Amino acid sequence: MVGKINKLINISEINQYLYCSRRLYYLKFYDTCGNNYELKEGKLKHKRSSTRGKWVKNIYLESKSLGIKGKIDVLEEEDFPVPIERKRAEKASYYKNDEYQLAAYGMLLEDNIEERIPYGYIYLYSDDSRYKINIDEDLKNKVNHIIKEIRNMRIDNIPYYVSNLNKCKKCSTRKYCMPKESKILGEKS
Ligand code: SF4
Repeated sequence: MVGKINKLINISEINQYLYCSRRLYYLKFYDTCGNNYELKEGKLKHKRSSTRGKWVKNIYLESKSLGIKGKIDVLEEEDFPVPIERKRAEKASYYKNDEYQLAAYGMLLEDNIEERIPYGYIYLYSDDSRYKINIDEDLKNKVNHIIKEIRNMRIDNIPYYVSNLNKCKKCSTRKYCMPKESKILGEKS
């Protein structure tokens, strides 16, 4: 179908989509300075790109069955490899979209190494804290639903602007979106 997303979805896009689906629309369909990266490694099974003690960094994986790809920031070896998503921004807490992103990394890992990944961690740089997130069926179902919504995005169907315009202040696609002008022109959110 014309203008539809057929490639594997980058997991970082889940976070972008939940922040503002319109922002992801511009990053995907317009020539912006998006956050996509080039996949450097394909399928990986118990293979590590770099190791330092019990830590492994920058693992690139993809899953055709899940329709996603992504770079896992850090894996920590416990009884199984535990994905860790590090948030470097100066924020005091993590958000639900961070949980979805972490769960997607867990699912990606699970699919590649064929081991159950029951939890992962979100690490906040701001106060050096770490939060355990259970990657249960409910969270996975929600991630799959979001992936489906992203896959169904079309170039001829621009999402409405975000209802919380505070989010627009630091948005890099603002110049394409022009949220205030869109509002004046009558576009509804
Ligand atoms: S400027 Fe606001 S509404 Fe527009 S894409 Fe960015 S966050 Fe979304």
